[in-house]
Amino acid sequence: MSDFGKAGSGGLQSSQYDNIDRRERTKQLVLEHIDISKDPYIISNHIGSFECRLCLTVHNNIGNYLAHTQGKKHQTHLARRAAKEQRENLVSKNYVQTTSSRIAPKKTIKIGRPGYKIIKQRDSKTGQLSLLFQIDYPEIESGLQPRYRIMSAFEQRVEAPNKDYQYLLFAAEPYETIAFKIPNKEIDRTTGPDGKFFTHWDRNKLTFTLQMYFK
Ligand SMILES: [Zn+2]
Repeated sequence: MSDFGKAGSGGLQSSQYDNIDRRERTKQLVLEHIDISKDPYIISNHIGSFECRLCLTVHNNIGNYLAHTQGKKHQTHLARRAAKEQRENLVSKNYVQTTSSRIAPKKTIKIGRPGYKIIKQRDSKTGQLSLLFQIDYPEIESGLQPRYRIMSAFEQRVEAPNKDYQYLLFAAEPYETIAFKIPNKEIDRTTGPDGKFFTHWDRNKLTFTLQMYFK
């Protein structure tokens, strides 16, 4: 933990988020300049670190991985691999095809349900019922934004359909999709400054917020 994080109880959290954000920016910066998708040895795993298939090493971030590829260990392995291929008289094109097809079906490992908070309110003037959902996605896949969907009781296949309800779903990998059963009343879809329908993805706190009013 950095000294910066010890400053106060609130400071700890925000500095953690700053770190995530900085790491994210560095990663994106590097990704823009180096096409790691053409590197047959890198594996990006679900907890956000990178593995070298050639040396079987794990790296906390992309910068660390790239530094590793310049290092003696990786270079030696590369040279050995190249010599071996030459001996076996493999066409390099074939090699690239085999390796990329092996790493291509990257399957997301689900890590469980996210934490959430729901606030139910009634507008004192209009009497409208409102629901505010706040979902925490601290381990969301980098670069991803949570998605939501409203589904009728007849579209879903988890419960027996009940026409009095509809479902609000939230999805963000690697989390499991969660669904809330809400009254099957018409939702006020007005958006904008005075709108009654509002979503927000906080990239720093990694929290997704959705507010809705029923008509
Ligand atoms: Zn390596």
